[in-house]
Amino acid sequence: MSQTAAPETLSFQAEVGRLLDIVAHSLYSDRRVFLRELISNASDACDRRRYEALTRPELAPADAEYRVELTLDAKARTLTIGDNGIGMNRADLVENLGTIARSGTAAFVKSLTGDTKKDMPLIGQFGVGFYSAFMVADRVTVETRKVGEEQAWRWSSDGKGEFTLEAIERTSIGTSVILQVREDAGEFLDPENLRAIVRQYSDHVAIPIRLGGEKSETLNRASALWTRPRNEITAEQHKEFYHHVAHAFDEPWLTLHWRAEGKIEYTGLLYIPSARTLDLFHPDRKHGVKLYVRRVFITDDEKDLLPGYLRFLRGVVDSEDLPLNISREMLQNNPVLTLIRNGVISRVLGELEKKAKDAAEDYAKFWENFGTVLKEGLYEDPPNRDKLFGLVRFASTHGPGLHGLADYVGRMKEGQEAIYYIAGEEQASLATSPHLEGYRKRGVEVLLLNDPVDEFWTAQVGAYQGKKFKSVTRGGADLSKIPPPEGAKEKTAEAEADTAPLIALLRLTLQDAVKDVRVSQRLTDSPVCLVADENDLDIHLERMLRLHKQIEKESKRILEINAEHPLIRSLVTAVGKGSDSDRLNDAAFLLLDQARLLEGEPIPDPAAFARRMTSVLGRSFAT
Ligand code: ADP
Ligand code: MG
Repeated sequence: MSQTAAPETLSFQAEVGRLLDIVAHSLYSDRRVFLRELISNASDACDRRRYEALTRPELAPADAEYRVELTLDAKARTLTIGDNGIGMNRADLVENLGTIARSGTAAFVKSLTGDTKKDMPLIGQFGVGFYSAFMVADRVTVETRKVGEEQAWRWSSDGKGEFTLEAIERTSIGTSVILQVREDAGEFLDPENLRAIVRQYSDHVAIPIRLGGEKSETLNRASALWTRPRNEITAEQHKEFYHHVAHAFDEPWLTLHWRAEGKIEYTGLLYIPSARTLDLFHPDRKHGVKLYVRRVFITDDEKDLLPGYLRFLRGVVDSEDLPLNISREMLQNNPVLTLIRNGVISRVLGELEKKAKDAAEDYAKFWENFGTVLKEGLYEDPPNRDKLFGLVRFASTHGPGLHGLADYVGRMKEGQEAIYYIAGEEQASLATSPHLEGYRKRGVEVLLLNDPVDEFWTAQVGAYQGKKFKSVTRGGADLSKIPPPEGAKEKTAEAEADTAPLIALLRLTLQDAVKDVRVSQRLTDSPVCLVADENDLDIHLERMLRLHKQIEKESKRILEINAEHPLIRSLVTAVGKGSDSDRLNDAAFLLLDQARLLEGEPIPDPAAFARRMTSVLGRSFAT
C-alpha cells in the first residue's frame, strides 16, 4: 500500500537556485520553449518505460499506447503536461529536479555572473530543461509514480530556493507536471496557442501529444522523424528534433540522414552541432547518439556504438537487425553493432571530407569546435587514419588560416624528408620561436601545433605518405640537406670554422646544465636556442608530462649557437683574445638563461641571473 504523510521541505542545490533566479527574473526571448522542454522530457520518459517493458512486459501500459497529454483548466489557471512514462520515485525527484543532473552543466551555471543582462544570452543558448517551467508558472507541481512501484510522490516548488516532497496516492504510472500559470502568461491557457506551439516545436515527437477536453485531439504527426522520407523533412523540423535529442539549443552544423540497406539495415539521423558541447571533455558524459531497435529506444549510453573521437555527434541510430529484447549488456561486442559502427564512421568521415573539400570556410568552423576531438582518432583508430589525415587542419608558417597535410606535402622543399612541426601552448609564441628561423630562411613550412593532443598523435602515428613528423625542437634538424638561399652557405661555413674555442669554453662552463653545445642550422636571427636530443622527449611534451606528474626527471638539453650572430662573433673574438674569464662565464650562463626564457622554461636560479645581468649591464655603461 502507498503511504501519505505531511510534506517535507528540501533546498535546491546552490546552482539550481542561481539558475532559477535568472530564469524567473528575466523576460526570456521566447517563453514558449518551456512547452517543448516538458514535452521532450515526457517523451524521453515514455522511451525509458518502453525499454523497461521489453524485458518485463507487465510494466507496459494496459492499452500499450504511450502518450503525452495536455490538460487546461482556465478557471484554476493550470496547464498540466501528463505522460505515462517511467515516472520518478523520491530519490529520482531529489536527484533530477533538485540538482543539475547533466554533466558539465553545474560548472556552467557556476560560471554565470548573476547579472541577468549578461547571463541571459548564454542561458538562452544553453537551455534550462525542466526549470524553464518557472518562466511561465508561479508554482510547479509534479505528481508522479514510477513504473513497478506502489508509492507515488508530489514535488512542488515556487522556484525560490526550496521544494516540498510528500507521499501521495496515485493510480496511474507516469508523471503530471502541473503549472500554475503566471498572471502575465495567460496566452498559455489558450488552446489555439498551445496547438500552434506544439506544431512548431514538437511535431517530430514520435508519440501522440493530445490536447484533452470534450473531444481530445492529437496535435502532432506522432511518427518518428527519422522514418519519414528525407525530402519531407524541413530544416525547421530537423532543428527541433536536434534540440530534442541533443538537449541542445544551437542549429545543427551538419545533418546526416541515411538508410543503410544490404548486409545490415539501419537508419541514421545524425547531427554535428554548430557550437562546442559543454561535456566534450567531461569524464562521465553520455554519448549523444541514441540507439533504437525498430523504433524502440534502447540506450543513450552505448560506448561501442561510436568511437570516442566522434563524441560530438548527436542523434539517432535505429537498427532493423538487433533483437528487440536485447539487453544493454548484450550489446557489448555484438557483431551487428560493430557493423553499424563501421558504417557510421565511414559515413561521417565521408561527409566531413566533402565539406572540407567543397566548403573550406564552413569546415573551418567545425574544425574550430571539434578538431581537437577528431584528432584523437589519429591514434585511436589506425584503420581510419588515412581518412582522418585528410581531415586534419593546422596553423602553419605558410600563412594565415588552416592548412591540410596534402597541401603541406605539396609545398615541401627539395631535399626535405620530414613534416616539421613545433608544439607548444600558444600559437603566437610558437610562430616567433627562434627554432623556426632556419626553416624560414630555407622556405620550409612548419606546422604550429598548440593542442595538447598533438603531442600524442605526433608521437604515435609515424608518417603521412611516407613522411615522418618531426619536431623542430628536437634532434639535429637535418636542415643541411635542404639548400639555403644563394651565397648563405659559404658565409655559414666561414663563421663556423672559428667557433671551436668558444664551443669548448661553453661546454666546460655549462657542463652540469646542458648535454652538449653545438653550432645551429636552425638559427638566423637569435644567438642561441635549446633543443632536445634526438632520443629525448620533445621539450614541450616533457614539460607537460612533468606538470601532470607523469615523469619526474628533466632531460638535459642541447644548447645551439648561431655562429653568424654578432654577439656570438664578439664572443669568438673575446675567447681568441683570452678575455677575462669571469665575464665569459657570466655571458655563458646568460645565454643559457635567455634560451630557457624563449623556451618558456623557468630560470632555475633567478638570483644568479640577476647578479650576472647587473654585472654585465654595469660594465656596458661604465666609462
Ligand atoms: P534533461 O532532460 O536535459 O535531462 P531536464 O531538466 O529537462 O534535463 O530534466 C531533468 C531530469 O528530470 C531528466 O533527465 C529526467 O530524469 C527527469 N524528468 C524530467 N521530466 C520527467 C518526466 N516527465 N518523467 C520522468 N522523468 C522526468
Ligand atoms: Mg529535458
